[in-house]
Amino acid sequence: MNANQARRLVVLGTGGTIAGRATQVSDNVGYVAGQVAVSELVAMVPALAACPLDVEQVAQINSKDMVLGVWQTLAGRVAVHLERSDVAGIVITHGTDTIEETAFLLQTLLKPSKPVVLTCAMRPATALVPDGPQNLSDAVAVALHPQARGVVVVCAGRIHGAIDVAKVHPYRTDPFDSGDAGALGCVEEAQLRMFRPWPQAVPEGTHDTASLQRLLGAAVMPRVELIFSHALADGEVVRALLGHTSGAGRLRGIVVAGTGNGTVHDDLLAALKHAQSSGVEVVVASRCAQGRVVPHAGQPLPDSAGLSPVKARLALALRLLEV
Ligand code: ASP
Repeated sequence: MNANQARRLVVLGTGGTIAGRATQVSDNVGYVAGQVAVSELVAMVPALAACPLDVEQVAQINSKDMVLGVWQTLAGRVAVHLERSDVAGIVITHGTDTIEETAFLLQTLLKPSKPVVLTCAMRPATALVPDGPQNLSDAVAVALHPQARGVVVVCAGRIHGAIDVAKVHPYRTDPFDSGDAGALGCVEEAQLRMFRPWPQAVPEGTHDTASLQRLLGAAVMPRVELIFSHALADGEVVRALLGHTSGAGRLRGIVVAGTGNGTVHDDLLAALKHAQSSGVEVVVASRCAQGRVVPHAGQPLPDSAGLSPVKARLALALRLLEV
């Protein structure tokens, strides 16, 4: 079978608001996430009836409660389906709260040459005007696009790359932004208009599977904590964390969301330097919503190479899995 014949999609459900249920149609916030089966979500989109789909319920959670086991199952199933020659792409329904972390994880581990499209909703499936069905329909259009590749997030008609996307609003139906980089493109009536190249992908069958295997085999993720620098910050949090330097859950790393260009309160910095000298890896990101730490000589801590604090935390944990 050649790539043009591979038109089947796999839809993996993990829960989220897109699968949420409220007791009243007027309630867009007091719902329970992860209630409606992904097969029902697919059935709500008539346009998908004509599309050959395999549908699998991988999890049924509120994504704020993401745990290693769900990531392991999801990454494992994505890897299996990507190998199938009859599969053109994968769509994942997911909560918006940690979708940027799951997208980053999958892109970092798989760099797929086929599209892996995460989608979501800000209103539950029971809402008067739910946004999930359109988002799912758009995600399918992206996954079927012949040039699509890599891990992307599709929401509110925009396509975001896994590395840059961040949730920036707790309520509006277009809650994502890709910062200075901007969205990769948009979906309009199932047609794509691209502004930037698709995410980096490695040729099929050539990606390094060692990192994926390490994740799949991990009993726990290396403990990497995320803290903030702020007015009146001191080193107390770091000193408390350093109390946990032995055993399976021992502290391995700290990401500090610094002020501005990754600057850190002197009192907090002293404690972080002490943590470094105790063998804890420390990385600084910027707590600014946009931009990145601009590297400069004499910077007291290594920076996150442009990653947001949450993605820097995950990147460090993945790196420490190798050690
Ligand atoms: N509020 C979340 C959402 O928008 C729930 C979740 O992340 O699962 O999907």
